[in-house]
Amino acid sequence: MSVFVDPGRVPEWYARLEMERQGMHVPSKVMMLDDVDYKMLAEDAKGGSIEKKLDGSGRWCRKCVKVKPDRTHHCRVCNRCVLKMDHHCPWINNCVGYYNYKYFYLFISYGVLILLWVSASSFVNFLRSVASPDVLDFGSDSFLIASCWLYASLFSVALGGFQTFHTCLLLKNFTTIELVEKKGQTNGNHHCYVHPYDRTVVQNVEDALGSIHALWFIPTRIGIRGNGVRYMPSEEYLAETRWRERKLAVGTTKEYGTGRGASL
Ligand SMILES: [Zn+2]
Ligand SMILES: [Zn+2]
Repeated sequence: MSVFVDPGRVPEWYARLEMERQGMHVPSKVMMLDDVDYKMLAEDAKGGSIEKKLDGSGRWCRKCVKVKPDRTHHCRVCNRCVLKMDHHCPWINNCVGYYNYKYFYLFISYGVLILLWVSASSFVNFLRSVASPDVLDFGSDSFLIASCWLYASLFSVALGGFQTFHTCLLLKNFTTIELVEKKGQTNGNHHCYVHPYDRTVVQNVEDALGSIHALWFIPTRIGIRGNGVRYMPSEEYLAETRWRERKLAVGTTKEYGTGRGASL
């Protein structure tokens, strides 16, 4: 599923909405929207982007010539923007993004479980094969059993590490790109970086695996919230933003007061 499901493209209705918001000219081709798109447009009208460029303007992909929603990144391999892009995976020859993240996560999770089961269930046979005198004869049964066991065990360790890494990301609502980009960043004034989408652990898992807990380990997207372009910010992030805005307002007032005092 993670191979065949499209990770997510920037929808036309979103491109139109953001271009209008930013006061840009909307080309006629972007305006051809169907009823479903209009419905999404109306629902989305209340929201706004969280991520902005340093000058405060919206994010824009120069390669696709299209607006970039929050958490969207341009994949150089696929040569297009991908919603909530995590990374481009050469093993599945596809990007991992908003629409196939759950399939990808379950794929690596079940992969680890199968490899561990193979290693555990064939451990006795592996010991017997190692004790056998023909274990070093290429092509012998003992050689094949021992090499298969080693392959499964080593691969389960490597994939297990990767799966653990993705579980940590999932619990904190990070994508791999966000982790790399935001690592070590601060929100100014020596404050630690506050990730906008890191809410409670349960909400973070629900964002990735769906709001119906019974379906968390079933490869289906039923119960997954959102539309791939808008994400709920955390209370901590909103408080931090309000604090920064207040601080900025106080700074501007002070500056204005000083300027006026100097001119009198
Ligand atoms: Zn792009
Ligand atoms: Zn890609």
